Amino acid sequence: MEVYNPTSFEADIGSCPKEWESGPITLDMIDRIICHYVPSNEKGKITMNKLEQLYEGKAKKVFSTEDPDVVIVSYKDDATAFDGLKKGTITGKGAINNQMTNFLMQQLEKAGVPTHFVEELSERETAVKKVSIVPLEVIVRNVSAGSFAKHYGVEEGIVFDAPTIEFSYKNDDLHDPLINDYHAVALHLATWEEIDQIKKYAFQVNDFLKAELLACGVTLVDFKLEFGKTADGTIVLADEISPDTCRFWDAKTGEKLDKDRFRRDLGNVEGAYQEMSKRLMGK
Ligand code: UDP
Repeated sequence: MEVYNPTSFEADIGSCPKEWESGPITLDMIDRIICHYVPSNEKGKITMNKLEQLYEGKAKKVFSTEDPDVVIVSYKDDATAFDGLKKGTITGKGAINNQMTNFLMQQLEKAGVPTHFVEELSERETAVKKVSIVPLEVIVRNVSAGSFAKHYGVEEGIVFDAPTIEFSYKNDDLHDPLINDYHAVALHLATWEEIDQIKKYAFQVNDFLKAELLACGVTLVDFKLEFGKTADGTIVLADEISPDTCRFWDAKTGEKLDKDRFRRDLGNVEGAYQEMSKRLMGK
């Protein structure tokens, strides 16, 4: 084995794989650094490369990287609604959703909710932990709207005394039906422990987001979360938190600042996404 003896060479490679931290640095390792990692301007930071496309969804593409535990998510401007029946483009949405998700996830992480976030790579690309998605859409509501208002025959805008939570089974063929936790356990979609943990995190996210948004003059009506399991079985918040997955209403006027503008043909869709970006992130 050819071995490079690092007498004056210091490997400043930030998040290098564990096995590189001890033992000699081989020429093969250096080749992997040079060929696969492009160091960013920030000292100690590694920038990953997209290798193979693993998946393309309605709003995102997912790529493998050199690190088997990390994938790159690339946000698209494509928009769909009503189970994919309505299709369109919201220009600039991918960049806003990427940056808003990362902005919120980094704060949630600090507030004690583990997330899949690793590193923002560009306007619309982010490195995230590779997880297996728990096939449940977790919906938290503070105010009646959308399918809740329709199912239960009530008007939109009723403020609940306490937030509600519900699950949909993520299954395109079945059109994501509502499911309760007993059914989710019976179908082995998650264990009771995982469901308890997911509910705890979802309400924590609600408390954090509600306060954060209120400070920007926005009412958090409802939102959808997805959780994933890392290789060691840890439950982490995954997917996105954006105007695609939340209902945001201006706290004073009630103006809709989310994907309902697209779903309901209300106009100024791009403007609503930009307004949310400005209010939350100042850009
Ligand atoms: N939601 C989502 N993806 C879905 C369904 C819902 O992100 O596939 C979000 C939606 O944006 C809203 C919340 O979850 O913020 C509750 O949606 P609802 O059940 O009212 O369904 P909708 O009226 O959007 O069909």
